[in-house]
Amino acid sequence: MTTTVQHLINGVWVGDPETERRNPADPGEVATISARGDESTVQDAISVAAQAQRAWATTPGPARGAILMDAADLLRQRHADVTRDLVREEGKTLAEATGEVRRAIDVLRFFGSHGWRLPGQTFPSSLPDTTVLSRAEPLGVVGLITPWNFPIAIPAWKMAPALISGNAVVMKPAELTPASATHLATALVDAGLPAGVLNVVHGKGSVVGAAIARDPRVAALSFTGSTQVGLGLHEVLSSRRARVQLEMGGKNAYVILDDADPVTAARIVAAGSFSLTGQACTATSRVYCTPGIREAFLAALAKEAERFAPGNGLESGTGMGPVVSEQQLATDLAAIKRAQEQGAQVVTGGAADGAFLSPTVLTDVEHHHDVAQEEVFGPVLAVLDIADYEEGLARVNDSDYGLTAGLCTTNLVHAHHFAANAQVGVVKINRPTTGLDLNVPFGGVKDSSSNTFREQGPGAVDFYTWSKTVYIGHDS
Ligand code: NAD
Repeated sequence: MTTTVQHLINGVWVGDPETERRNPADPGEVATISARGDESTVQDAISVAAQAQRAWATTPGPARGAILMDAADLLRQRHADVTRDLVREEGKTLAEATGEVRRAIDVLRFFGSHGWRLPGQTFPSSLPDTTVLSRAEPLGVVGLITPWNFPIAIPAWKMAPALISGNAVVMKPAELTPASATHLATALVDAGLPAGVLNVVHGKGSVVGAAIARDPRVAALSFTGSTQVGLGLHEVLSSRRARVQLEMGGKNAYVILDDADPVTAARIVAAGSFSLTGQACTATSRVYCTPGIREAFLAALAKEAERFAPGNGLESGTGMGPVVSEQQLATDLAAIKRAQEQGAQVVTGGAADGAFLSPTVLTDVEHHHDVAQEEVFGPVLAVLDIADYEEGLARVNDSDYGLTAGLCTTNLVHAHHFAANAQVGVVKINRPTTGLDLNVPFGGVKDSSSNTFREQGPGAVDFYTWSKTVYIGHDS
């Protein structure tokens, strides 16, 4: 069954569905067929958003929040269909997709309740009979551009703080996964979101995304995707002094020390590397082992990898879904081949059957090899040797990226030292690099992020608001 997807502009679904997206696990099936927007579609969306935003901004926070809460309830009622569509267009397993749709529901609830707690403060004044306060003002129209790998959770964690703060939104979901974000938008419309407050335009990034980024009526852009595209958008937004938030690629490292349990370490690393087919920005892709644990860790890792048997995400027994696209598969296989040319040994996996790439473990990798430096974005893990903790920390930090990093140890001193000194946005001690709660700040440093504002958690609204200081004298 094919899901048709249209643009949402001014509360109306428009555009002829024309772009086909095939199910990566079953290429004979057309998963979605979506409308293809252009510059004029984007301009229409921005115009109606600018108009709708004024009334939305004066709607009380709790009333805005009630709509987000109702949308969460609707998504909950529809979750079976939404989850199925997510698997069919993105490929992840049913369990992974179920978790992701639940995350979107919880994000709507979290920011819905935030309508009662929108920021604003009073301050003591040095002047008599004077009240000083700050107001958190919405920015106006904000643009959101999202990737395919979390096709409903990322739109939710951008949209919800933007809307609860009183902004209107123009959003562009990834071309590969148009249906998931559209389900989210549908729930918000059905919950009573006023026309024009949320607009969704589908189509190519270089056309639709670029048009959103350069329009002077868009006060801010929140982008998640590749570092290459993100840095280009940074230039565009900075040149017109608009606010920009970028969350981008990663080359996330794990350090395993001799004092750790090798089986536990393998479980943690495999979960971080192979769940979501390794297609998570936070996925573990390089591991540094001290000599005393290396062999036992590798043996346990090979066993753990068996639990990630690739297959169709809708079928029971599937441990890992397909690679999302032919292009991504070619990238993954090229990275494995290049690693072998540079001297790496494939000890597990390394081959694909159609879109199904086996979880792949490489050894004999040097820190300067491409596979230890460049993001692959697939289930490909490089295992490297280190002499001790100090060398491991240095290797972790010797990277262009800085999203997540982990340490497996029972040594408290090393755990705290690592937390203080790893140059990443998220540190995980004895936990997989993937997976964060929705109430904690999320983001990276270096080439992983604009490192301006964090996403998720209560602080997520900071990106979508500006602070106005107000003095009120009351002595007359
Ligand atoms: P991508 O950069 O190719 O695309 C992301 C979005 O940008 C898509 O909607 C795309 O259409 C749009 N886009 C592409 N070119 C554009 C342009 N010139 N102007 C405006 N928009 C444009 O990334 P992807 O392949 O969808 O996602 C994978 C990447 O996303 C990986 O690098 C991954 O690490 C990263 N990612 C990061 C996070 C994070 O939070 N740090 C989370 C998920 C994914």
